[in-house]
Amino acid sequence: MLNVVIFGAPGSGKGTQSELIMKEFGLDHISTGEVLRSEIKNETDLGKIAAGYIDKGQLVPDALIIDILSCVLDSKQNAKGVIFDGFPRTIPQAQALKKMLNERGTDVAVMLNLEVEENELIDRLLARGKLSGRSDDNLETIQLRLDVYHSQTAPLIVHYKQEGKYRSIKGTGTIEYIFEQIKNIIATCQTS
Ligand code: AMP
Repeated sequence: MLNVVIFGAPGSGKGTQSELIMKEFGLDHISTGEVLRSEIKNETDLGKIAAGYIDKGQLVPDALIIDILSCVLDSKQNAKGVIFDGFPRTIPQAQALKKMLNERGTDVAVMLNLEVEENELIDRLLARGKLSGRSDDNLETIQLRLDVYHSQTAPLIVHYKQEGKYRSIKGTGTIEYIFEQIKNIIATCQTS
């Protein structure tokens, strides 16, 4: 399996680029944020718990999100590979992901970090909020999510550098230009 972690701060374009990667390379896509939003929409017990964290810009607890990921991963056993979007977001999640993939005879091939300056992230998220109506795309929650990103999620950069899986991508410019960089990196993973 070709497993790609698409990484970056909120608003860095992970979802947009995931769709292009899916089409180009025939990979499946797991977005933990989308899974949680669907649970909230369906008013499940899990959705009710998740909403309490999402609306405050906080992360859902590791144990809960790792369980969810494990279930979703079981449904992808025949996939050519998976794009992990929004997971892992903490070091324990990265460790759990490695364990889950190893147990299934595979591993993360590469971690792609979409780098975008903070001002642009905020502008993008505010613009998206007007269209998406997402409860967490308002200025107050955006600031909290960025704080959480810096304190809990950014340490994964060092983690994946140590694993030799880290690749940096300039996340500004046209969607096509950004995808071109991603395409070149994934193509080399396929041949290695
Ligand atoms: P996203 O759609 O990836 O921006 O995620 C939206 C929100 O869902 C986040 O701000 C978190 O509250 C929650 N969430 C999504 N993925 C995770 C994760 N891997 N760990 C913890 N919380 C998550």
